[in-house]
This record gives sequence, C-alpha cells and structure tokens, in this order.
Amino acid sequence: MIEKIINQSILSLVEGDITQETTNAIVNAANSSLMGGGGVDGAIHIAGGPKILEECKNIRAQSGRLPAGQAAITTAGSMKTRFVIHTVGPIWHNGDKNEPEILASCYQMSLKIAEENGCKSISFPSISTGAYGYPVSLAAPVAINTVVDFLMKDTAIQLIRFVLFSSRVFDAYAEAVRQRVEVGCSDLRK
Ligand code: ADP
Repeated sequence: MIEKIINQSILSLVEGDITQETTNAIVNAANSSLMGGGGVDGAIHIAGGPKILEECKNIRAQSGRLPAGQAAITTAGSMKTRFVIHTVGPIWHNGDKNEPEILASCYQMSLKIAEENGCKSISFPSISTGAYGYPVSLAAPVAINTVVDFLMKDTAIQLIRFVLFSSRVFDAYAEAVRQRVEVGCSDLRK
C-alpha cells in the first residue's frame, strides 16, 4: 500500500478487488452500452446484484449510450459502497485517437459526479488497461496526474484510492506516483 497526502487529501494505492471497497463510491470501467461486460464491470454487477443493471437501463432509456470520457452514477446494490460511477474509457488505438485526453476526462468526470453527490471518498480501478488495451505504463501517469491535479484544487473529496488488481498494475501506478509526487507532500508509505 502507498499513501500520499496531497493538499490535505489522501491519495492511496492498494492491490485488491474494488467490489470490496467501503469508500463512498467506486468507479466502474464500463462500456458505452452500460449493459455490463467482463473484467471489473462484470465483477461489479455480480457483487452488487441486479439493481445496478436496472438503473443502467433507465439511464440508457433517458440518455442513450454513454460516450467515452463521460460518467453516470447509480446506487451500488448490495455492495458496501454507496454509489457506482460508470465511466467509459478510451479503446487504445496506438495513442493517436485522443486516448490520453479521453482517459483524463474519465477521471475528471467521475470525480465531478462524486462531488456533486456528496462523496468524500472514491475508489478507481485502472480504467482502459484490460479489454480496452491501453498500455498500463502509459495509462498510469495519465490517471495519477489527473487525480493529483484535481486534489491540488479545493475539493470536499478527502480520499482517492486506486484499487489495482495485480502487482504488475500496482507497480506501474506506484512508479507514476513516484514520478509526480515529490517535494511538498509528506510520504506516508506503509
Ligand atoms: P477496460 O475495458 O476499461 O480495459 P477491464 O475491466 O477489462 O476494463 O480492465 C480494467 C482493469 O480492471 C484491469 O487492470 C483489470 O485487471 C482490472 N480489474 C478486473 N477486475 C477487477 C476488480 N474486481 N477490482 C479491481 N480491478 C479489476
């Protein structure tokens, strides 16, 4: 586990399963259909139960497909967290289709919705680095830089945690934190 204090909030990295989180919200790496899928999306729908899919269907009926870089919120069914924030990451196409900007938008829009819903803590998976093929060594610095930039502004969010499913992905995010967070942040590494 790694923890850093950024402008009075905590940025934390853990290896684990995001469906077990007790933060106020967890983020789902969904697809535009919002109808569920594999990877973390499938795990969240299984852990939370059918209520999440029902709410996703209502969002679809009202707003249509969710574009990449956008986010939408539902409750969390039977999971311990209160909300699932569904965001659609970019599919990797060699980096020349605005993938970094779209990925950054996923984090920004998720944090905005979390704030609007009174969340003080939020957990993210490594968006786009599974089925969507974004190289984790490139996705990790985008993710870390975007959330650190967010925390440098005033926010009610006190904890942003990345819940990473393997040591390989954890190590990539740890390296991105090392690159970004140096002077001015106390090191609470455990
Ligand atoms: P995408 O389609 O955005 O690439 P995936 O779900 O395929 O989404 O993969 C995103 C990341 O989520 C991968 O690093 C994958 O290993 C990870 N992941 C899968 N299941 C879980 C889980 N239960 N908790 C946290 N991360 C998970």
